[in-house]
Amino acid sequence: MRTSARACGLVVVWLWAVASFDDACARRPVAAMAVGAAIAASSWLPGVVVDTWMEYRHEPRFGSAPLPVLRFTTVVAMGGVLTVALGAAVAIALRSVIELTAWWPAITWSAVVATVVFAGPGIARGFHRGEPLDPEAEAEFAIIARSGGVTSIDWQRLTSATESGLNAMTLGVFGRPVVLCTPELLAADDDLRDFVVAHEVAHVRRRHHRQALITSAAGMAIEVGALWMVHRVSLDWFDAGLLDARSLPPAMAVLAAVALPVGFVEAWQSRANERRADLDAIANIGSPGAVVLRVLHQHDRSDLDPGRLARLASGHPTPAERLMAAERATASH
Ligand SMILES: [Zn+2]
Repeated sequence: MRTSARACGLVVVWLWAVASFDDACARRPVAAMAVGAAIAASSWLPGVVVDTWMEYRHEPRFGSAPLPVLRFTTVVAMGGVLTVALGAAVAIALRSVIELTAWWPAITWSAVVATVVFAGPGIARGFHRGEPLDPEAEAEFAIIARSGGVTSIDWQRLTSATESGLNAMTLGVFGRPVVLCTPELLAADDDLRDFVVAHEVAHVRRRHHRQALITSAAGMAIEVGALWMVHRVSLDWFDAGLLDARSLPPAMAVLAAVALPVGFVEAWQSRANERRADLDAIANIGSPGAVVLRVLHQHDRSDLDPGRLARLASGHPTPAERLMAAERATASH
C-alpha cells in the first residue's frame, strides 16, 4: 500500500508543482529544492502512517508496549529530516534536466523516490543503534544461523529504543548483515526467541531484503513507464500536455490503475517471503511452538483472520494462516 500512497503523493506534488512553478522558475535552485523536498516528503509520509499505526494500535495487541510518544516522534522526525534533505539535494542536482524536457516532474520524482528508497537502509542504519550481544546469546544465535545456512551475521542488541515488540530486523543490503534484536525479544522465552531468530536467519539467507528493494524499484519504473506510454499513445485527454492541469485526472487514473496492482504484487511477494521464512525456521529449529505463542498474543479476532482486502494488502500472511502452516509443517516432520 505504500506504493499506491507514493503514487498518490506524486499526483499531489505534481498538482502543486504545476500550480506553483513554470518550467523556467523550476530551474531555480530554491524552487528545485522545494519540489525535491515535497516529493521526498510525499514518499516518506505513507511509511510513517503505517509505522505509527503498527506501533500504537498493533503492538499492544501482540502484548508489547509501544514506544513512548516523544521517543517515537523523535525517531520519525529524524528520518523525515534526512529524507527531505536527501530529496532536495537530488532535485538540485537534477535541475539542469528541466531545461531539456517537459517531463521534469516525473523524472525528478523517480530520481528522488529511487534515491530515498535505496538510501532507506543506510538512513535506518544511521539511527537504529546496537551493542554486541552477551557471548552466551551470540553463541546460541550463531548455532541457529549456521544450521540455517548463514555463517556471517553481526548480531546486536538494539539500544536506541527505535523499535519495540518481539522483533528482530536486518539492516544492510550489501556486505555483512546486521541483525538487531529488541530487548523484549532477548528477554522472551527460549522457544519464542529462537523462532524469531531462525525466521530472520531465513530472510538473510534468501536475501529477502534485497529482493524487496528490487521489487520496489521495478514498481516505480512501471508506474512512470505507464504514464509515459499513455502520453505517447496521446489519447485525446492528454493533448493538453502533461504539465497542464487538465491532464491531472487521466494521470491520476492511470497511476491509480497501475500503482494498485503494483502494491498488491509487493504485498504478495512479502507474504510469500514471510511464509518461506516461517517454514525455513520450523525446519531449522524443529518447533512451531513459538508461532503458536505469537498468535496467542493476539487478542483481536479481526487481527487473527482479517477481511479479504486487508489480507491482499498485508505484507504478512494472517496469523491464522501462519499457525495452520506451522502445524502442517510440524506434522510432516
Ligand atoms: Zn519476517
